[in-house]
Amino acid sequence: MMHENPIKRRPSRRIYVGNVPIGDGAPIAVQSMTNTETTDVAATVKQIHAIAAAGGDIVRVSVPTMDAAEAFKLIKQQSPVPLVADIHFDYRIALKVAEYGVDCLRINPGNIGNEQRIRAVVDAARDRGIPIRIGVNGGSLEREIQEKYGEPTPAALVESAMRHVDILDRLDFQDFKVSVKASDVFLAVESYRLLAKQIEQPLHLGITEAGGLRSGAVKSSIGLGMLLAEGIGDTLRISLAADPVEEIKVGFDILKSLRIRSRGINFIACPSCSRQEFDVIGTVNALEQRLEDIVTPMDVSIIGCVVNGPGEAMVAEVGLAGAKNKSGFYLQGERQKERLDNNDLVDQLERHIRARVKQLEAEQIPVKQA
Ligand code: SF4
Repeated sequence: MMHENPIKRRPSRRIYVGNVPIGDGAPIAVQSMTNTETTDVAATVKQIHAIAAAGGDIVRVSVPTMDAAEAFKLIKQQSPVPLVADIHFDYRIALKVAEYGVDCLRINPGNIGNEQRIRAVVDAARDRGIPIRIGVNGGSLEREIQEKYGEPTPAALVESAMRHVDILDRLDFQDFKVSVKASDVFLAVESYRLLAKQIEQPLHLGITEAGGLRSGAVKSSIGLGMLLAEGIGDTLRISLAADPVEEIKVGFDILKSLRIRSRGINFIACPSCSRQEFDVIGTVNALEQRLEDIVTPMDVSIIGCVVNGPGEAMVAEVGLAGAKNKSGFYLQGERQKERLDNNDLVDQLERHIRARVKQLEAEQIPVKQA
């Protein structure tokens, strides 16, 4: 019942962050970052597990000190997903986490220091098959670039990124991905568009410091939506001033909306009005919570009356069209003789949805992903 998406992905090289492929048509990986103290191993591992349980493919952990690097060793041993170490400036930390099995280094080679240090980090990455993420941020451009452009512009962000890219090129290191994040949607979007034309490596998307849960989700959806719809982007992180688990949910919701990658139930629900024959909002909220554990992609339509109910139900795996006392019930687009009692919708729908998920899993219908 899934509609295809018409998006043509930008061709790119492929890298691997642990066992997660990035680029060259691989499913767009959804990432988040821990916000615990990295030296608090138990709290960080707990958060990584929560992110992974929500579907996070990769987790980034800040490693600002050598103590944090020692904690990272223990965290890595307990992580169910690949880990990226976020490192600024100190090349010794990069070498340490490489030794401890990090899956990707987020470090800008131009900020490491002299040639010898850069070579040491790049050689360690090469020897161990660890990719690097170059991460440029509109808020922290190099002074010369700021002076040259006067303010962060797309050309300024891309010039900054290309400085780091050129260093890796010179050292013949090609296993990297790049981000050019900004908190302004247009600045970020234009920067990524420019960068996409200049390199063949995969791109890590993000609107940095996007804001709180609602406003940040909207801003990220607009920015990343524009890029993803053009085929730009191979992995993403939504930056929210909120629980990292919410970042994963918003990331999947964006991919789901564009039919790029689906995970779990895609609810099609009407906003409800005085025609509704049952409590649409309450029913959808309850089902969303109860069915969070489902990973199989599936469309479910919950519509308050017959104005739009039958039409939406016909293109969903499970559908409900509100009617007096007992609502119309649809499976795989077909109206069923059985009608569902409006007083007990959540339990009944949960049962039917889980049964259909089981069938889909048994049939092993392949999940279509761009
Ligand atoms: S589908 Fe029916 S209940 Fe839902 S918003 Fe439209 S008219 Fe109202």
